[in-house]
Amino acid sequence: MRKYSVFAIAREAMRGHKGWEQQWTSPEPRKDYEVLIIGAGGHGLATAYYLAKEHGITDIAVLEKGWLGGGNTGRNTTIIRSNYLYDESAGIYNHALNLWDGLSQDLNYNVMYSPRGVMMLAHNVHDVQVLKRHVHANRLNGVPNDWLTPEEAKEFCPPLNISKQARYPIVGAALQRKGGTARHDAVAWGYARAASARGVHIIQNCEVTAIRRSSNGHVIGVDTNRGPIGAKKIGVVAAGHTSVLMEMAGVRMPLESYPLQALVSEPVKPCFPCVVMSNTVHAYISQSDKGELVIGAGTDQYISYSQTGGLHIINHTLDAICEMFPMFARMKMLRSWGGIVDVTPDRSPILAKTPVPGLYVNCGWGTGGFKATPGSGNVFAHTIANDNPHPINAPFTLERFRTGRLIDEAAAAAVAH
Ligand SMILES: Cc1cc2nc3c(=O)[nH]c(=O)nc-3n(C[C@H](O)[C@H](O)[C@H](O)COP(=O)(O)OP(=O)(O)OC[C@H]3O[C@@H](n4cnc5c(N)ncnc54)[C@H](O)[C@@H]3O)c2cc1C
Repeated sequence: MRKYSVFAIAREAMRGHKGWEQQWTSPEPRKDYEVLIIGAGGHGLATAYYLAKEHGITDIAVLEKGWLGGGNTGRNTTIIRSNYLYDESAGIYNHALNLWDGLSQDLNYNVMYSPRGVMMLAHNVHDVQVLKRHVHANRLNGVPNDWLTPEEAKEFCPPLNISKQARYPIVGAALQRKGGTARHDAVAWGYARAASARGVHIIQNCEVTAIRRSSNGHVIGVDTNRGPIGAKKIGVVAAGHTSVLMEMAGVRMPLESYPLQALVSEPVKPCFPCVVMSNTVHAYISQSDKGELVIGAGTDQYISYSQTGGLHIINHTLDAICEMFPMFARMKMLRSWGGIVDVTPDRSPILAKTPVPGLYVNCGWGTGGFKATPGSGNVFAHTIANDNPHPINAPFTLERFRTGRLIDEAAAAAVAH
């Protein structure tokens, strides 16, 4: 596959851009593969890429029921940060953050990673205690995180309203300067192109309808709407639909699927320099390179598979955004959408072997898995290749919900993006 470079752009400019190849191939599925990955979101594609790149396994197919990146990967608000509370979380999210740094070069694809800083607001004494605890825990784990006064927060983000009369007064903020955003589609496309270049088959419009097992219980393949496909190992990376797929193999998952919404405004000139989150009022905001304000909300209160979500949720979020940033009160919203997120009881992911030999699962990222994409794919590939977890994902087992060794980011933050 041709390398993207300034010379390639110049060469193509001279000949009317007629020489660009397809970014990835779309082969017919073969009868058998060594590894099948179910789900062509960022995590599934990254897993296939690292299996090929770091473990020399290229006999892989990634099966996707819709189009590549059409799940939560293409629906999220792209916040990247690693300032979670627990040591295990710091391990995996910081592993991902380190990979984001050189990802565009590694994939030869501009994923537009922009470390513009993620600021988390405190509105009351409880928030201050929680966020300061995060700052100290992060520093102990080597994750830089700064505490800001309201005035320092306003200096970092001028549109912020720090008036003491505000409905949600700002009493401080935690700032992870290396946090930021990336272009979600580019992440899926970049991993797909790089995996395809190494021989991975990416098969879209291919829905898995059953997981087949031999008489000794080991996986032997799947049934799809394009016929049966055999495999020695299967990785399920299907976000909100993980429980449905795992049930096909007889495994009951500790997951609930909720709609989570986001919305964007009309595009305006650059006016918002960073990412701001408020967990207390369930609102967060950044500005895309196109100029749209990208705004996210909390999940619906009820489980569902409808990719829409309640209107009152985004109404509440916009009320909060207008209170915190009055200058946006007259902006028009262009569109809103939802995705189905897979939530575990402790709000931490599961990246693990399963009780079924040859079956592996990567799920439970809930409202905040985009940021983990490179790290998750990297350690999940290790788990599949070696039939053993990487030390970084070793704590993220399925068994922890039986043994009680939880990684309780739910209690630590209540919401996470
Ligand atoms: C509105 C919203 C905002 C978010 N904001 C953020 C954020 O700011 N920061 C952050 O870090 N995270 C965020 N997230 C979470 C993040 O998007 C997800 O955790 C992450 O993208 C999950 O990636 P994935 O590859 O596991 O899943 P997906 O991208 O959903 O991929 C799973 C794929 O599996 C496919 N699939 C399902 N069933 C089958 C089947 N039977 N056969 C074949 N294929 C199947 C689906 O079609 C889908 O393409 C947000 C999510 C939403 C919905």
